[in-house]
Amino acid sequence: MKILSGIAVSPGIGIGHAKIIKQKLIEIDKHSIEQEDIHKEVERFEKSLIHVINDIDKLIDNYSNNKNNKQILTTHKMMLEDPELIDRIKELISKELMSLEKAIDFHFNEIVAFFNKMDNEYMSERSSDYQDLAYRLLAHVTDQKEDCLDDLDEDSILLMSDITPSKLTRIFKQHISGLCTEKGSKTSHSSIIARSMSLPTVVGIDHIVEQAKHGEIVIIDGNKGKIILDPDEKTLIYYREIWKKEEQKKIELQEIIDVVAKTKDGKRIKLKCNIEIPEELEQIASLNSDGIGLMRTEFLFIDKDELPDEDEQYQIYKEIANKMKPQQVIIRTIDVGGDKLSNILNISKEVNPNLGCRGVRISLRDQEIFKIQIKAILRANEFGNVAVMFPMISNVNEIRKLKSIIEECQAELSEAGVAINSVIKIGVMIEIPSAAINSDIFSKECDFFSIGTNDLVQYTLAVDRGNQLVADYYQPTNPAVLRLLNMTIVNGHEQNLSISVCGEMASEDNYIKLLIGLGVDELSVSPGRYLAVKEKILNCDYSKAKELAANVLGLASSNEIEEMLLKKN
Ligand code: PEP
Ligand code: MG
Repeated sequence: MKILSGIAVSPGIGIGHAKIIKQKLIEIDKHSIEQEDIHKEVERFEKSLIHVINDIDKLIDNYSNNKNNKQILTTHKMMLEDPELIDRIKELISKELMSLEKAIDFHFNEIVAFFNKMDNEYMSERSSDYQDLAYRLLAHVTDQKEDCLDDLDEDSILLMSDITPSKLTRIFKQHISGLCTEKGSKTSHSSIIARSMSLPTVVGIDHIVEQAKHGEIVIIDGNKGKIILDPDEKTLIYYREIWKKEEQKKIELQEIIDVVAKTKDGKRIKLKCNIEIPEELEQIASLNSDGIGLMRTEFLFIDKDELPDEDEQYQIYKEIANKMKPQQVIIRTIDVGGDKLSNILNISKEVNPNLGCRGVRISLRDQEIFKIQIKAILRANEFGNVAVMFPMISNVNEIRKLKSIIEECQAELSEAGVAINSVIKIGVMIEIPSAAINSDIFSKECDFFSIGTNDLVQYTLAVDRGNQLVADYYQPTNPAVLRLLNMTIVNGHEQNLSISVCGEMASEDNYIKLLIGLGVDELSVSPGRYLAVKEKILNCDYSKAKELAANVLGLASSNEIEEMLLKKN
């Protein structure tokens, strides 16, 4: 048994078998062949195909209890058996004299490009199916077999050096048991997605892929930030007990789904959800929430080959607005940059990406792209209650300029005879210290504030939110952060603005009471944490929370504050 400690980023206990993914890129020798090698190459293809199909068959048998995975694999098998695909690869070998590796690579790239051009979600899923298939085939042909992310199941504990938000999004439907990575931090975007998947996750464990053995039993303790490799019987029994209790708790929490989020003494706190990807919509709709407090739109721009057009965006926003109405959906405009990279938005490699071209800075630079998004949002507002929110605002001129672009879009849509609701609420994210300090000025320019504590902590304390090496410096309760929060809330309330917190601080057990005491009106949290946060609100006494906040604001250090919060929660 080996116990390793890291950073707890998504609570819960996961028990399963280690699935180590080393993410090695397959190296392909793209040579051409001679005429006399055609037969040999075609034969190699036929044999590889049979082999890979047999592998998939075995996996299908293994997944007898997992309908979803079984279905994905059955589709993959059918795709591989498609005569058109087989003929095309044979043709590339015999007519173009491509080696088998080159032919597979060429043809699958062709298909992936074709599907990526089609702007609907189903088609883009097909494209990632083909990428997986190419990977399987090439891994076999080149004898560089690596595990694929689609070989995961409910018993898997995924161990990787790092995982990108898009890869994690892809395994969203596979319901694995836990995740552990070497890199990452509490507020990196992959960690945020792990929380919204309710996936027990620990990050910051050095060399985990070398330390663990493939297939051994692993426990992820997402509450305490521990990972236990090859646990002894006593430890396993202990964690199984905790797991059972947590499952029981989840069932109990279902009972408060329809209870209005109010403190014990009647203070209403609107509780909303953050949404990262459309796949979360069903789960969110089932929570009977007070709306969506933050719809991140980065998924539209990351890992894509082409910019999403107005209609594609409109369809997605409309579906969400429609499903959530009459509750409000706050759509945040493009916030790519920092650790959210997009190759279609032409962001050059920067020395300091978090201080570089990020958020509205991109919108102001590429105004035509921004206008497409705004028009899609304005059109979706016809079908529900939609608001728009700007990220990374640091000065009032940005707000004024962005608002004038919205007006321009409204005028252009009206001129074109497109029906839109001319009233749309506009909010500003307070996530840069200058925004908090300028919040009295900003409050006169917008309808609401949403405090992005993930970035506010990062920028106030000069601590990279994604860097595990400085994770100890990332202190949401540093007095400087709390003073900025307080300042924002007081200034916003002066102008009767509603103040929300949509950063991860809003879903941390220890901080909910403090935020309520500081006077926030709304919290917006990952769907996976929604009911646990609601329970906290229901058990909170507003008058005591206010007292706590006043006391906390008088303390000098994060240590003292954390200690007091532990005592009073
Ligand atoms: C934040 O910074 O707190 C926030 C909600 O935005 P993101 O995490 O997407 O940067
Ligand atoms: Mg942010």
